[in-house]
Amino acid sequence: MNQFVTRKFAADRQVATGTVRVSDWERAKEAVVDPSVEIGYRVEGGLDGQGRPMLILQLSGTVELTCQRSLHPMPFTLGRRTPVLLAGNQRELEAWDQEVEDAEVVLAKEPLALDALLEDELLLSLPFSPLCDDPECAETLRRATGDGQAAAESADHASPFSVLRGGNTKQSH
Ligand SMILES: [Zn+2]
Repeated sequence: MNQFVTRKFAADRQVATGTVRVSDWERAKEAVVDPSVEIGYRVEGGLDGQGRPMLILQLSGTVELTCQRSLHPMPFTLGRRTPVLLAGNQRELEAWDQEVEDAEVVLAKEPLALDALLEDELLLSLPFSPLCDDPECAETLRRATGDGQAAAESADHASPFSVLRGGNTKQSH
């Protein structure tokens, strides 16, 4: 995919659609179980309520992630719509970043590689710590550890060792 998007692409309300293999992306391919999967994309140009050039990024398809509870593959369905404002210069970038809460803002002084935008979108849409909603998974872990509840609770708290290792780890959060 050697396509670029510009502020003009957005202002002209152009649309780009296609498919891409996750394995084409160096960073994203590490994040899924099977990177040979193909996902769809749709990029729609437009203007926001203030007349600012904007893209709506949307990925579609299903990737497999690793459930962090018992480390098995689980499906994750893509599909969120992400608005991205295209700032024309550094000053706009900083001002819009302050003003806008419900959209990303990127610097689009030069044409932007669509590829990189979509890879970022995929990485940002994946949960940081995926957990399946299969009750059997939780049950299996509970049996394996003897007391899953305690294990889950202690994972939520800072390890006592991090305190012993010194420093103000809590304040850094
Ligand atoms: Zn699971």
